[in-house]
Amino acid sequence: MIDPADEVVRFASELIAIDTTNASDNGGPGTERPAAEYVAEKLTEVGYDVTYVESGAPGRGNVIARLPGADPERGALLVHGHLDVVPADAAEWSVHPFSGEIRDGYVWGRGAVDIKGTLAMTLAVARGLRREGVVPPRDLIFAYVADEEAGGFTGARWLVDHRPELFEGATEAISEVGGFSVTVGDGARAYLVETAEKGVMWLRLKARGVAGHGSLLHTDNAVAKLAAAITRLDQHRFPLVLTGPVHDLLAGLAEMTGVPFDPDDPEPAVARLGHLSRLVGATLRDTAAVTMFEAGYKGNVVPSTARATVDGRMLPGREKAFEAELAAVLGPDIEREWDSLPPVETTFDGALVDAMAAAIGAEDPGARLLPYMLSAGTDAKSFQRLGIRHFGFAPLRLPPELDFTSLFHGVDERVPVEGLRFGVRVLDRLLRNC
Ligand SMILES: [Zn+2]
Repeated sequence: MIDPADEVVRFASELIAIDTTNASDNGGPGTERPAAEYVAEKLTEVGYDVTYVESGAPGRGNVIARLPGADPERGALLVHGHLDVVPADAAEWSVHPFSGEIRDGYVWGRGAVDIKGTLAMTLAVARGLRREGVVPPRDLIFAYVADEEAGGFTGARWLVDHRPELFEGATEAISEVGGFSVTVGDGARAYLVETAEKGVMWLRLKARGVAGHGSLLHTDNAVAKLAAAITRLDQHRFPLVLTGPVHDLLAGLAEMTGVPFDPDDPEPAVARLGHLSRLVGATLRDTAAVTMFEAGYKGNVVPSTARATVDGRMLPGREKAFEAELAAVLGPDIEREWDSLPPVETTFDGALVDAMAAAIGAEDPGARLLPYMLSAGTDAKSFQRLGIRHFGFAPLRLPPELDFTSLFHGVDERVPVEGLRFGVRVLDRLLRNC
């Protein structure tokens, strides 16, 4: 009999070796097709009926398959992940980023943690369930989609708009960036389940001024105006708001470590979290980071316009306030246009959460599940438009010293082989009992 835990490492390595770099920021043609075909073939091989969809642009492959459950009255569980990855510069890496090399107990390469390792886990588990003829408690929908790294415009977002019937009946979903372990205090482990995500506002800013020869006096310089506004924004601190999931995470960790935390002043507790503090710290307030600046075309010409791009992230419930605060800080001279994706939030309770805790507890006795908020965004933003509750739960038991969050989109991205095998065992238990 094939053990899914034996398949997962090979799948992770082979999926990494399929370069699905998503270099586009605007949903053009994509590179996902060969990875989508790989997943489709692995599912078809064990008897799934697979739907293959190219969403809006050539190469943007998506694969959806359903495993019927015992109780059609219960809502389906969507298990989704994206096929694309962010670019990687081979010159910076210890191994080739698209080698999928297995070395020192890790699978290495772009996508190892975001998200090919997770795809390999769900694929191995989906195959195991089908091979064994398992009828899960409710329908399971497995979805492997394009374009998450650029907002899902030709992936989840497109599918929700154009093919919602593929997700019919789904009430809950699990996907990436959650379920990983953190080691606290004297070796106790907590597994962080993502129950909320900040919203995204990608802003394009523009300042206008009077163009002219660089040698003359200028009182209305577009470049200077925009630079000043950007500096104000960079120095601005948005208000601290302790949201439910962040409170519950810090309270849970305080219980585990015995080090109390003050809800009125949570920043010292966040600072004590080691490498996790960058992620949790970014969920205490809204942020707005300038990422691109563009102006001018000649050294002796003051241009009439200057442009900048800002990556804004707002807490759940802060959408309107964030927009108003941005406008105030930037001032009336700066024109603003934006694309936005809303925050995501659900409660940390219910039968699915209980089943997650049971599955983790069976494989790592004594471990504790805690909710947390992701400072970034995922395809959950699109799927929540179908009324689907979302959890980040891609279980991985990690060595205590590994700085996991820095591996996302990082150099030398890698995932522990034993972590993947652990994740398969947990997911297998979860999907049989969800
Ligand atoms: Zn991802």
